[in-house]
Amino acid sequence: MLRLIRTQGQQHLRPFARLTTASFQRSLQNGQRHHRQYQSRFPALRNFASSSKTNQASASPPPPPPPPKPTKSRLFRVGRAIILTGVGVPVVGSLAWVIYDTLFETHGDILHQKRPRHVVGGPKNLVMTHGCKGSVLKAEEIHQNDTRQRLVILGSGWGAVSVISQLDPKKFHVTVVSPTNYFLFTPLLPSATVGTLELRSLIEPVRRLLSRLGGYYLEGRADDIDFENQLVEVAGINGSDGRKFYVPYDKLVIAVGSESMTHGVEGLEHCNFLKSITDARDIRKKVMENFEMASLPTTTDEERRQLLSFVICGGGPTGVEFAAELYDFLNEDLVGYFPAIPPEEVQVNIIQSAGHILNTYDLKISEMTEAKFKRDNINVVTNSRVVKVNPTSVVYKDKSTGKQEEVPFGVCLWSTGVGMTPLVKSLVQKLPAGSQQNKHAIETDRYMRVIGTPEGTVYAIGDCATIPQPHFVDQVMQYLQENDTNGDNLLSYEEFQVLANKIIAKHNVLKVFLGRLDKVFEQYDKDHSGTLDLDEIRAFLIDAEKGCTALPATAQVANQQGKFVGKRINTLHAIENDPVAVAALPQFNYKHLGSLAYIGGGDAALDMGQGRVYGGIGSEYMWRSVYFSEQVSIRTRLLLLVDWSKRALFGRDISKF
Ligand code: FAD
Ligand code: MG
Repeated sequence: MLRLIRTQGQQHLRPFARLTTASFQRSLQNGQRHHRQYQSRFPALRNFASSSKTNQASASPPPPPPPPKPTKSRLFRVGRAIILTGVGVPVVGSLAWVIYDTLFETHGDILHQKRPRHVVGGPKNLVMTHGCKGSVLKAEEIHQNDTRQRLVILGSGWGAVSVISQLDPKKFHVTVVSPTNYFLFTPLLPSATVGTLELRSLIEPVRRLLSRLGGYYLEGRADDIDFENQLVEVAGINGSDGRKFYVPYDKLVIAVGSESMTHGVEGLEHCNFLKSITDARDIRKKVMENFEMASLPTTTDEERRQLLSFVICGGGPTGVEFAAELYDFLNEDLVGYFPAIPPEEVQVNIIQSAGHILNTYDLKISEMTEAKFKRDNINVVTNSRVVKVNPTSVVYKDKSTGKQEEVPFGVCLWSTGVGMTPLVKSLVQKLPAGSQQNKHAIETDRYMRVIGTPEGTVYAIGDCATIPQPHFVDQVMQYLQENDTNGDNLLSYEEFQVLANKIIAKHNVLKVFLGRLDKVFEQYDKDHSGTLDLDEIRAFLIDAEKGCTALPATAQVANQQGKFVGKRINTLHAIENDPVAVAALPQFNYKHLGSLAYIGGGDAALDMGQGRVYGGIGSEYMWRSVYFSEQVSIRTRLLLLVDWSKRALFGRDISKF
């Protein structure tokens, strides 16, 4: 049977077989011709060739005499190659090095310019990053060929990065000292707590931002500043065991931000904070953990209620945005992925001490957000102060009735304003008596120079800095006389407008406080006479003074102050020895560009100032485009686009890690 098939197959393939046989014979002849040529060129191979032919010995001519053994010549060639590479390369290399060294001889100081030399000195005899001018350490020669000023920036947040963005690389030798080696885009941090955005999409390495300037980054925490000797004392973090070193400066910018305010409340160790990338990761993990645990059949009803209760202490933008993100997560992802948890079992509570949430925004925004949260079943408790935090419950007191309530929580976010970092606390105390009066931040003049430090050397910006309030009331008579054009000792609306605009021009922050001037005039014209008398003007000035208090602790303020300081020191570089030119430089003037807050369900609250507010359709896209355009790099813009698209297509990443 088998044979039959083969025969048939052979018959079937016959024309092809003939063809292959012919071509095979041709290639065999070609092969033999090549083989002979090859043997004549490489006699060593004849041995092998002859042995392979033994089977055909009867048909072949007698073998030629054996060629000399090849072992010796191959060994010789290999040995020669080794000697040439092993000895020749180092010899040629050394020769080239000697020639290069002779032709381009390098002196120590040039090397120092390229790479900061570490020396020891200063009052505490610590290692220094690079040469320090002045009496502390005679190491000027290290720095002598570098005409650039040594600018040291403490922090890598909003303020610091805005300074960096303005600097001229030819003028400054920049060193950034910060425990975080990245810039964090804080306004989008709440979106990272439930996986709407990835944490990595919110950060940009500070070294990348510094590369334009050829600047240095040192990972550490500034512990102290020696203003007299112009040295920052830095403690290394992570693996460096907190070993300390000095960073000398010609100019210093303090932009170390703030810490969460505790208000002396007990039990905050049970709360989560939302200031850093680690905080956001911890919250995300805890939220997912709670949902997973609540889905287990072994979890009791009471445990479930506690696990699925979220309490937010503080109704500012951070607290509101976290509540909004939670709401979106419950609506968009919980239903699909956690079938064992009915959405109505999840409870979100906001406890706010003021009368409204988002109380620094226009009242219309606050009311709009409160109405939306009511529809979304987010429980907003206003006029109440948290008195204690237990491991699984928060105790708060109604400020009007004095009644105490307790609400259980699975996650409690503490977000009730900002306070001083340990460094700022110690600096305020060590500056000359009377120079620093503020309890929340370092006081600066209107050029952002720290009051009480050697003039023009130290600046403070962002959350850690504040400009002291002006005293309008002291000049009430002067204000009246200057603006009372018809001399009736009263201010008409037109006269008041001139006065208010003069004050706003000097203190831009009041633009927000004053809002619409016709409304303000009506408010202070108590007797409805159509004019303001001395008492009414005084009442207005007292309130204006209050409105002029510290600028809000926002990225917008830090960003504008950072840009102001960056531009100022760039300009100062050329005119520092000309006091008239220096005095003519402008003061810092804050321009409020509006406030934004995402309030969930595709709605954002946009407060454009002066009573102009916006919410509803399209507001989320406006909110997104503002933050998209504010990004510090194209890389993070791309990552944001990917995250937003990913969420739209596949929902949030609900994995827990
Ligand atoms: P930060 O940006 O906080 O930077 C401080 C830097 O200093 C950090 O790099 C820190 O590591 C470093 N540092 C700390 N201690 C030391 C030390 N001892 N030595 C050296 N470095 C140190 N603002 C808005 O305008 N709009 C918003 O929508 C908004 N949303 C926010 C949401 C959240 C969750 C948070 C936390 C803040 C939000 N803010 C918002 C506020 C805004 O982030 C801050 O006002 C802004 O970051 C202040 O900038 P800064 O440079 O002063 O401080
Ligand atoms: Mg008048």
